[in-house]
Amino acid sequence: MTRARMPRPNEVAAASRDPRLRRAFEEREDGQAWRVRGVCRSVDPEVFFPAPNEATDAAVALCRTCDVQGACLAWALDVGDCHGVWGGTTARERRAMLVAWRAGMRESGTAFDALAAASALVGPISATRELVASA
Ligand code: SF4
Repeated sequence: MTRARMPRPNEVAAASRDPRLRRAFEEREDGQAWRVRGVCRSVDPEVFFPAPNEATDAAVALCRTCDVQGACLAWALDVGDCHGVWGGTTARERRAMLVAWRAGMRESGTAFDALAAASALVGPISATRELVASA
């Protein structure tokens, strides 16, 4: 088994601007009550855990229809090292998101401040305010 490389700064910068990450900051929940509302409850779990060389498209497409996508991704990022598709992201995508997520959550317990802290990795806070205002 090969060890995943650290995400590059440009990958972290792109991840910190990803709308899926913004949604995770905004919709993060304590606990896992969101799970009972997940679309995947009625789908074969194997769809969400494809083998390394298998496509993730089907699972990601299902996630896009799911009301708890943000809470689900937040949970996966809190856990930090989980496999499979969560909140419409693949494990590979989450590696870069995780750096931005941890930077944001380290700074503050509020979604806005967490988003601002993550954005500070790549740009001024004014850009973050615009991002939040446009949500
Ligand atoms: S976002 Fe995807 S993995 Fe998460 S609960 Fe919804 S369908 Fe399941």
